[in-house]
Amino acid sequence: MTELDEQQLEELRRNLETLRSELGAQRQRGEANAAPVDVNLPIGRLTRMDALQQQHMARASQEGHGLRLREVAVALAAIDSGDYGYCRQCGEAIGFPRLKARPETRYCIHCQDNIESRGA
Ligand SMILES: [Zn+2]
Repeated sequence: MTELDEQQLEELRRNLETLRSELGAQRQRGEANAAPVDVNLPIGRLTRMDALQQQHMARASQEGHGLRLREVAVALAAIDSGDYGYCRQCGEAIGFPRLKARPETRYCIHCQDNIESRGA
């Protein structure tokens, strides 16, 4: 894999910044849904279970957004410090096409496969 040139790096930085604001907005919307269910509300049992389930799902996706948001922040910091685009596992350049598809990724495709097959 070849290293990123200036223009590719700028493009990925913009992608990451867009991603950061989108994820931030999604998380804020999620927070409204994940608010505690008021069990004293005069709603039926089924409705309450629906509400709890909805709340659970909202929390799960909120955690997902939070996690991804941290990865995006780490990637942006790596751009600033000049070590963006290298695999955290093997140190190889990750490659522009993969970064373009998932700019917050920290591993090259081979290491990602290894990590996932280990179930980590
Ligand atoms: Zn690697």
